[in-house]
Amino acid sequence: MNTLYLRAEGISFAYPDKAVLREIDLAIQPGELVGLIGPNGSGKSTLIKCLSRALAPQRGRVWLDGHELAALAPQQIARHIAVVPQAVELPPGFTAFEIVLMGRVPHLAWWQNENARDKQIARAALEATGTWALADRLVNQLSGGERQRVVIARALAQEPQILLLDEPTAHLDVKHQVEVMELVRRLNRARGLAVLVVFHDLNLAAQYCSRLVLFKEGRVYKAGSPREVIAPEILREVYGVELLVVPHPRNQRPMAVVCDT
Ligand code: ADP
Ligand code: MG
Repeated sequence: MNTLYLRAEGISFAYPDKAVLREIDLAIQPGELVGLIGPNGSGKSTLIKCLSRALAPQRGRVWLDGHELAALAPQQIARHIAVVPQAVELPPGFTAFEIVLMGRVPHLAWWQNENARDKQIARAALEATGTWALADRLVNQLSGGERQRVVIARALAQEPQILLLDEPTAHLDVKHQVEVMELVRRLNRARGLAVLVVFHDLNLAAQYCSRLVLFKEGRVYKAGSPREVIAPEILREVYGVELLVVPHPRNQRPMAVVCDT
């Protein structure tokens, strides 16, 4: 069972022409499924990049357990943290199976090739995401949704303890949205993965997450249970829109809906 956690401590990040993250504190514990929400451009993807060392924050620190992320080699980080980025570019000319097998690279020494066990792990990852039937297809010939699930399979093949997903359901129809979220939750519960998911859809976030973090202009505006965060006055303040918040008829979790009066 996983015991690793990831913690951002007062991180600030600016692109050359733009300050984006301002003093973010955020921790993801083992077994936790945290949703990150906020308007376009509020810094969600930038945070995911800082948490996986794709970007280095100018101030503050990111901790992977007791280790500062900045002091670890990319391969060491990739053994523990897998990322499903928002815009994924896959190298053309590879099959889905080959792409997923690349998830094993962080676990291999430079002189090693993937062995039977690595191939078995890749197969299990394809099966878990319902893409085993696509294993021999070239990834550039897959649909957006199929490709997305292959990218998630590659992340699973990394056997991470920490999973960072940036809008993983963005190009998926509702069936595949549910399938991906059920899969993520299963991994989260069965293996105790610490999971952070960026959501576009507030209601999907409220259904699946135990805790939500709401960004506004690069700051944590509100963090807490879905019921604490998904409230009309908070959403008005952050998104600048009037939404109706009603309890889900089955589980009472909040649902924010537009209301055309
Ligand atoms: P979100 O994921 O919440 O939509 P992003 O983290 O992608 O937000 O972007 C936050 C802000 O940083 C936006 O204003 C965006 O235009 C800007 N930004 C993102 N990437 C870059 C980049 N590579 N160079 C300069 N500015 C960027
Ligand atoms: Mg984004």
